[in-house]
Amino acid sequence: MATIVMKFGGTSMAGIERIRHVATRVAREVERGHRVAVVVSAMAGETDRLVGYCREASPLADPAEYDVVVASGEQVTTGLLAITLNAMGMKARSFLGWQLPVTTSDAHGLARILDIGTDALNLALDAGVVAVIPGFQGMTAGGRVTTLGRGGSDTSAVAVAAALKADRCDIYTDVEGVYTTDPRIVPRARKLAKITYEEMLELASVGAKVLQTRSVELAMKEGVRLSVLSSFSDEPGTLVVSEDEIVEQELIAGVAYDRNEAKVTIVAVPDRPGAVAAIFGALAKANINVDMIVQNIAHDRPLTDVTFTVPRTELGRARKVLEAVRDQVGYDRLIADENVVKVSVVGVGMKSHAGVAVTMFRALADRGINIQAITTSEIKISVLIAEEYLELAVRVLHTAYGLDAPA
Ligand code: ADP
Ligand code: ASP
Ligand code: MG
Repeated sequence: MATIVMKFGGTSMAGIERIRHVATRVAREVERGHRVAVVVSAMAGETDRLVGYCREASPLADPAEYDVVVASGEQVTTGLLAITLNAMGMKARSFLGWQLPVTTSDAHGLARILDIGTDALNLALDAGVVAVIPGFQGMTAGGRVTTLGRGGSDTSAVAVAAALKADRCDIYTDVEGVYTTDPRIVPRARKLAKITYEEMLELASVGAKVLQTRSVELAMKEGVRLSVLSSFSDEPGTLVVSEDEIVEQELIAGVAYDRNEAKVTIVAVPDRPGAVAAIFGALAKANINVDMIVQNIAHDRPLTDVTFTVPRTELGRARKVLEAVRDQVGYDRLIADENVVKVSVVGVGMKSHAGVAVTMFRALADRGINIQAITTSEIKISVLIAEEYLELAVRVLHTAYGLDAPA
């Protein structure tokens, strides 16, 4: 008898008809004699709607109360799935975040899971009861409701799988697995049978939202057997594995993009020790993540420009923070541009092959796409480009690296 965690995303849970379909998937695993825990997302669009209510009520909503509101979407689908499973003759019950409990840090809106109580859960599973658990939500040690950041139900599922020492964690979504790029942008994207944790982690962190970054991090750390597959078909999905389980390594695993980027240029910064520290120190203090950074040395005068990116959703706050340190830093002015996106190529093959970056730069140049900033890691190259070129860039890079599926 195996222990299995199944996670169903928003599209799979959108409406009673789809929830019934999910229940038939759960029934299959129950009939095979497995112990089954199911983690669910809110119905597609619901979390956005709830976030919208909070903003409308107050742009400065208390993050703890924001969490109370946005966590509710998952409570609804959890109850509805338990009802549906019961109606189909299966034993099932809900375990909300505070009931297990899923204990988290107190970083409201972006909390980290610290611990999951498994006593009640194991009792239920041993008695043949399907445990239905809302993703995305938890509770602080002090008893307040938290949420894990957008897309966080993936992380809930992996954390439950790790806590139960489950044999598998199956992430059911609205595409058939992990592709070489977003199949909604490139119809010729190829489904990968396997991908390494390392590559999946990098792809997720540069924007491939098919899995939340933290879920991959956790699966890698805890050795959770993670797969991504479709709720709507029986095709085999993608298995996330360690490097030694891959026989023939491709040079590039995939291409990803991130629209949540804004470019900030600080013009005429004094070229002296401490200036950059003052700029980024202020942003860090405000909890604003800086991603790409470009700084040139000053040539003919002791001033330089510093360019970097922040999440587009944080640009307003970043501006305020930077204007407040203008006199201290001694810069001239700030220019912001929201019309940018980041496009990245990821692959462990890069570690041992030269010329990967040049292929990227040439493919973009051939289409007249200008590169505004570049960052690299051992297995990733990212470029910042104008947003209007996003789809074209992803498509030409997919072709340039030989990733297109046969026509
Ligand atoms: P869920 O609600 O099931 O969590 P998400 O919308 O969070 O689903 O994630 C699935 C989506 O991720 C797909 O619909 C697809 O558009 C997008 N996606 C982005 N990059 C990839 C990729 N490389 N492979 C598969 N899907 C991707
Ligand atoms: N419902 C949450 C969101 O939309 C969490 C999730 O679906 O993973 O971000
Ligand atoms: Mg998701």
